[in-house]
Amino acid sequence: MEQFDNEVLSLLEELKQKHDIRFETHDENYCGVSQQNNTATVFYNPKQFNNASIAHELLHVWLSKFEYHVGSHIYLMCLSDPKLSKIMTKFLCDYIENLFDHNKMYPKYKEMGYSDEDFIVNGLEQKCSISDIKQLSLSFLNVYNANSINRFIGYLLSIYADHVFHDYLEHLSLLKNKNAELFKIVTVFWNRWLIFDVTVIDPIFNSSYEISNSFLDEMETWVANKKIK
Ligand SMILES: [Zn+2]
Repeated sequence: MEQFDNEVLSLLEELKQKHDIRFETHDENYCGVSQQNNTATVFYNPKQFNNASIAHELLHVWLSKFEYHVGSHIYLMCLSDPKLSKIMTKFLCDYIENLFDHNKMYPKYKEMGYSDEDFIVNGLEQKCSISDIKQLSLSFLNVYNANSINRFIGYLLSIYADHVFHDYLEHLSLLKNKNAELFKIVTVFWNRWLIFDVTVIDPIFNSSYEISNSFLDEMETWVANKKIK
């Protein structure tokens, strides 16, 4: 572990007060972290060792102290809903959890002095392409496709969550033209997250549940009179 730089070492010191941090190697070209109770295991590839990527994973652990849950809460709330459970899959909800985390950890990551490029895999690339969006077909003969709605939400959030600037004007207008209501629901959801201060969570006055519940209420209304398959 001699390769850790001072930033990683001091974050590790801070985290060790509450967490048991372990490191394991794997052959993938990305880093990852799994957390269970107070144990966090960071997975990394020793052939591509990079302090910025280790710091990124440790920042996920650092965020856990604020105890908010958005993606996982949405997933659980949708499990028993016949329509929303088809849209809000585990994959999408994990993706939301990640994007929302990234938004809150990015300022600290930059403070630590790391580059935009190393923040995530392919960090400088556009997060969604025009052709991805053009291939989306939300409905056919009045039947909505759950998988397309799922991708619509993922694409739009990936654009909003991009930590580097890209010109997404065309992407956004294409998505909006596909469905202005859904576009608005996802946009409001993200904007609520942007102004949400994770450092002062309060069960009544500043709760992440309020953000996920509002999103779910709006989604419920949106799917109410639609056939979804
Ligand atoms: Zn991450």
